[in-house]
Amino acid sequence: MPEELELDSAARLQLAEAALRYAEDYLNDLPTTPASYPPIAPDVVARLAAPPPEQGRPISQLLDLLSAALETGIDTSSGKFLSYIPSGGIYSAAIGRLLGAITNRYTGGTHGAPGLIAIEAGVVRWMCGLFDLPDTSSGILLSGGSIANLTATVAARSRLGDDFAHGVVYTSERAHHSIDKAARIAGVHPDRIRAIPADASLRLDTALLEAAIAADTAAGMTPMLIAVSAGTTDTGTIDPLAECARISREAGAWFHVDAAYGGFFVLTRRGRERLAGIELADSITIDAHKSLFLPFGTGGLLVRQERDLVDSLEGRGSYMQDVPEHGREIPNYFAMGPELTRPPRGLEAWLALHLHGVEPFRVELDRMLDLAAWTAESLAAMPDIEVIADPELSIVAFRSTRGNGVSQSIARHMNDSGDVHVSSTTVDGRFVVRLAFLSQRTSQDVARRAVALIGEAIGIGS
Ligand SMILES: *Cc1c(COP(=O)(O)O)cnc(C)c1O
Repeated sequence: MPEELELDSAARLQLAEAALRYAEDYLNDLPTTPASYPPIAPDVVARLAAPPPEQGRPISQLLDLLSAALETGIDTSSGKFLSYIPSGGIYSAAIGRLLGAITNRYTGGTHGAPGLIAIEAGVVRWMCGLFDLPDTSSGILLSGGSIANLTATVAARSRLGDDFAHGVVYTSERAHHSIDKAARIAGVHPDRIRAIPADASLRLDTALLEAAIAADTAAGMTPMLIAVSAGTTDTGTIDPLAECARISREAGAWFHVDAAYGGFFVLTRRGRERLAGIELADSITIDAHKSLFLPFGTGGLLVRQERDLVDSLEGRGSYMQDVPEHGREIPNYFAMGPELTRPPRGLEAWLALHLHGVEPFRVELDRMLDLAAWTAESLAAMPDIEVIADPELSIVAFRSTRGNGVSQSIARHMNDSGDVHVSSTTVDGRFVVRLAFLSQRTSQDVARRAVALIGEAIGIGS
């Protein structure tokens, strides 16, 4: 194998061809490979985790090892993957990432690759526009929703200034755990993090939120952040956004909307209607690796006032004295997020959005809404099956009214088939099975198979 780190042109092309051919076989086989695999065997772990040799090995050997690695766990790249939150991993964006890695330009500060930064800033501005944020808005692409929630929390803390010692964070008991984690990383004492109960429709109960704020304020504390969900991970439920915005404004708190899962449904007419009120947010978490079908690794934070982010996160060192000031068209991303060196994240989204145009994304998101609505309707017609909330977005959550044991056996039957993979959650102490539709590879046939498997499991099916 090549001994030099810098490959010559022939070696590069040979390596790329081997890798891209491998990827081709992988993708072409996806319709027939299972949604999940048996537990990983200890000898496979040992082979995969072996230390690197002193002398290199041929790429063919390494691709065989990669196959051994990929034939484990749950296949999140499969259209049969309906558990957790799927990620489409569209090929065009993967090519954008490959080119970003090969050209390896620096998008931390404006001096490095202003062109690539302009590309990312353009993508972010388009996203701000989708949510009707004002001209003062801006944002940054980050590694995912968790880091976006953290970044928003740090901005909210900065805005509170010295009052932070008394600052309280409010969220819903059904919010993603990364909100609570973000508050703890940001230094909010666990006693100052309120998980407000949800009402019967699984939305944050705004009467309880107002009561909690009143009690805290009377006790000398300061509402710092109200973080709600635009599409919960469990059931895709959207909190009452406009009402929560009003409560936040009156309390003087930062209003954050976690739209990591649900955000890009705003591209559809139905999603736009259901997300009404999101335009009032001080900040919005989005995950392009969820509802924009990108490969894992691209989330983002949009903020109403760019200043809020820069004021809280700008940092300088003497080794950076050659770096120009932060600008609006060409931002210093190190001044807007926790990272300094970072990949050119905008390139993936930009390549995909410009190559395909926006319409195919809208069409696919609409199709996901249709798949969820069709599945929910089919399940509601089955005996002893309760769809626990009308799907607002693309997640269908259901249970057997005959009890947790039956619900568990339905999930097991579905996953044992290898034809689909579903995950579960708990709502009001009840075991709930969930199907999330968010991959361009998920067809109506997959939804039909899922429904048939549920029928089989409860003894009514073919
Ligand atoms: C997935 C998710 C997150 C976390 O995002 P990561 O990209 O996994 O870090 C946060 N909030 C919600 C609602 C999510 O669905």
